[in-house]
Amino acid sequence: MYFYSSAISKIKLLKYSLIASLSCLSAITFSTVTTAQNDSSPKIVSTFLPIHLFTQAVVGDTGEVEILISPGMGAHDYQATPDDAKLLSDADVLVENGLGFEEFLSALVDNAGNSNLQQINASEGIEAIEGEHDEHDEEEHDEHAHDEHEGEEHGHGHHHEEGNPHVWLDPVLAQQQVATIRDGLIAINPGNADSYSTNAEAYIQQLQELDSEFQQRLAPVAGCNFITFHDAFPYLAQRYGLTQEAIVEIPEDRNSPKDIQRVQQAAREYGAKALLTEPGIEDKRIEQISSDLNLSLEAIDPIESGETDPQYYFQAMRGNLEALERACQ
Ligand SMILES: [Zn+2]
Repeated sequence: MYFYSSAISKIKLLKYSLIASLSCLSAITFSTVTTAQNDSSPKIVSTFLPIHLFTQAVVGDTGEVEILISPGMGAHDYQATPDDAKLLSDADVLVENGLGFEEFLSALVDNAGNSNLQQINASEGIEAIEGEHDEHDEEEHDEHAHDEHEGEEHGHGHHHEEGNPHVWLDPVLAQQQVATIRDGLIAINPGNADSYSTNAEAYIQQLQELDSEFQQRLAPVAGCNFITFHDAFPYLAQRYGLTQEAIVEIPEDRNSPKDIQRVQQAAREYGAKALLTEPGIEDKRIEQISSDLNLSLEAIDPIESGETDPQYYFQAMRGNLEALERACQ
């Protein structure tokens, strides 16, 4: 309860202050409100894949959760469209990861002009790890000053002022996110409280089993130091005694010779054991570096795109566990 209570109470205050002005609104707005009230289940929108998976797991068969960022596209490359504002203008609940991942969201919510929209921040109460980028901001910009893609956002650019947002990749923090989503939905729609609780409990139990598997199977490779192009795994690494040395701001699919040098330098400096890329990336130069430096090369999935079935999380995470086991052997 603690984690969401402040967020919910702020939303409630906002809601009450808006009720007084509702009577002044147009007939069009009024008909939207009526439609929402006639439906027993709220219309729920999630921002992107992992939050969609967790929210759909809690909602179960009480309703369908919509997703703002297409599950087939990289969430960091998202650009809001007028259709997205429309989706939010019709919604009752918006569930976000928070910790600055959805930096576009406040402008989009303003655009949607939906005074009834209630928001759940799934990371409420989670203490963020500082983003790798936060420390090296100046340096990164200097090093890319002559980059041909200067001024363009790189594929994995992270400018998250609130710290690293990739908490869903830690099976323990994922449990906390599911519980926060459950509590938020119950507060908004108490009529479905029993279903939300039962569904969340089953999913949290699966996450606990996943955590046990990670603990057991990664214990023998504790201390393993890996390099990743995407600063997505510090929570996972910290949880299971591994070390991630992220090299952010390097696009895996169009890296420059200078980027390659940085990977080589970091691999030597940190005594890295493995080089982790993402599924779907095939780059001969990266393969060459891994063989030159005797680093194992594996793909690890940040689950920012994929399938929308809540069970997909476990499939992807077990794939990640196997990749880490092989990489760190
Ligand atoms: Zn990411």
